[in-house]
Amino acid sequence: MGENNSMQIFKHITELQQSLAQYRVQGKTIGYVPTMGFLHEGHLTLIKEAKKTVDIVVLSIYVNPTQFGPNEDFDSYPRHIERDQELALEQGVDVLFHPSTDEMYPTESMMSVIVNERVDQLCGKSRTGHFDGVATILVKFFNIISPDYVFFGMKDAQQVAVVDGLIKTFHYPIKLIPVQTVREVDGLAKSSRNVKLTLEERAQAPNIYKALQNGLVLIKNGEQNANVIEQKMIKDIHENVPLGEIDYVQVLSYPDLKEKRTLSGKVILATAVKMQQARLIDNIVVDIPNK
Ligand code: AMP
Repeated sequence: MGENNSMQIFKHITELQQSLAQYRVQGKTIGYVPTMGFLHEGHLTLIKEAKKTVDIVVLSIYVNPTQFGPNEDFDSYPRHIERDQELALEQGVDVLFHPSTDEMYPTESMMSVIVNERVDQLCGKSRTGHFDGVATILVKFFNIISPDYVFFGMKDAQQVAVVDGLIKTFHYPIKLIPVQTVREVDGLAKSSRNVKLTLEERAQAPNIYKALQNGLVLIKNGEQNANVIEQKMIKDIHENVPLGEIDYVQVLSYPDLKEKRTLSGKVILATAVKMQQARLIDNIVVDIPNK
């Protein structure tokens, strides 16, 4: 099944770097897929894209504490490293990096990255400091791995926008490849957190994507007022996801995430809905041709 029957697994930075240096002298291109593990089809699709693009695929599995708020689910975030290792091997991952927090944060909070733009809306608004944590850990990973390509899922579209800014701001010679959201057959975006849904919540959850699709239908029918589209999606979610509590429903420009009362160009329809144990996010990005 697997494309290679050997995968190197590293917990320590120096050993990982020694291995990558050997690939680099051989002229091999390196692709990097960062994850928090508990792998599902979404992650595997990123790995498949990386396999198509580069010679050597590096996967990291690390639940980064600095991107979780004090009342968020760091402790209860699902983890299953043995199963993840098997899946990674099957997909042909060449190098798996699974560091400890002592390894990643030797100086604790001596320095960090602060993200100034693209974080005042959507998840950045309700998860204060989340993207600072994401940017800080990615600076570490990018410096350690020096990949030629990085692969991120559009499920986390705001993260893609922030990583795009990070790469440009710090002049990383890295090409960012965004990968389309992978969904369950009923439309629910795959997520490690879906296992935390109750049966009733799971039954309602696909209606989150349906609400986004209904918003998209309005746009396709010529609606240009972001507020009208947001109100329609809010109504849909209230009616069809009664177990959920809306965190946000927004229609913004993409990737700069600015409010635009009249829509044109690249636009994101995005929502976050809190269930009892899981906060679900989803989005659609659409290009509206100028009339
Ligand atoms: P996570 O482990 O949740 O931090 O996700 C690691 C990477 O996988 C991120 O780039 C995510 O955007 C991506 N990802 C997560 N879920 C999906 C999905 N359903 N489809 C595509 N990419 C995903």
